[in-house]
Amino acid sequence: MKLQEKIIKKTDDLFQAYVYPLINKKRNVKCPCCGWTGPRFLHHGLERRPNSRCPKCDSLERFRLYYLYLKKTLPADKPIRVLHFAPEKIISKVFMSYPNVDYLSVDINPAKAMQKEDITNLSFADHSFDLIFCSHVLEHIPDDRKAMREIKRVLKPDGLAILLVPIMDSYKGRKIEKTYEDFSITDPKQREMAFGQHDHVRIYARDFNERLEEAGFNVTIDKFVESLSIHDVERYALMPKNSFANETDGWIYCCRRS
Ligand SMILES: [Zn+2]
Repeated sequence: MKLQEKIIKKTDDLFQAYVYPLINKKRNVKCPCCGWTGPRFLHHGLERRPNSRCPKCDSLERFRLYYLYLKKTLPADKPIRVLHFAPEKIISKVFMSYPNVDYLSVDINPAKAMQKEDITNLSFADHSFDLIFCSHVLEHIPDDRKAMREIKRVLKPDGLAILLVPIMDSYKGRKIEKTYEDFSITDPKQREMAFGQHDHVRIYARDFNERLEEAGFNVTIDKFVESLSIHDVERYALMPKNSFANETDGWIYCCRRS
């Protein structure tokens, strides 16, 4: 991003976060993660999608959704070992707030997590974790099938892996019926054109669960967002409003060893 664009974006963020709530006293939205209330969340992403990022805790739509999901489903009564890939700060906090959770975050970049790990070649023994949480990582990984097999390998026999990716039904007017990847595209600018982001290596379609099943998972899709009231979905701004958004943004892919 050019310096001029960065300055414009930062100025807009500051206006939206601090000035706009003074002009507009409505408190239409509330962040479930940090309690912030305001007329709307900040714009976010390449296309500056509206009503997205919390000015206080930086949560995005999906982080708020996962926050609510984990708060509802995490067991508090038995010790569990959790592995969290590419940790979102607010989700780390949720896991670490449970005294029964033995928590480890990992990332290919050691500055971003507790431990450095390559998702396609994990250092852990088989059957190490009760719960594995991995969101918006696999679309960056060329050999995502190997990553899925590694996740399965380190998951306990009765464990649960929550594996989430952006899923598109269409892109730039083209229908996406099957997951699209082309490994001849390696230039970041061309990847942005082809896959929507400079560091993505594919666009997943709704056949994502088939790839997980090929890796040996039983996949259950929890349409969690549909269990919430429309009022809560709007108030917490849980669904992104951009051109790629679809109902799958509110779904949780629950994977168990088959
Ligand atoms: Zn917040």
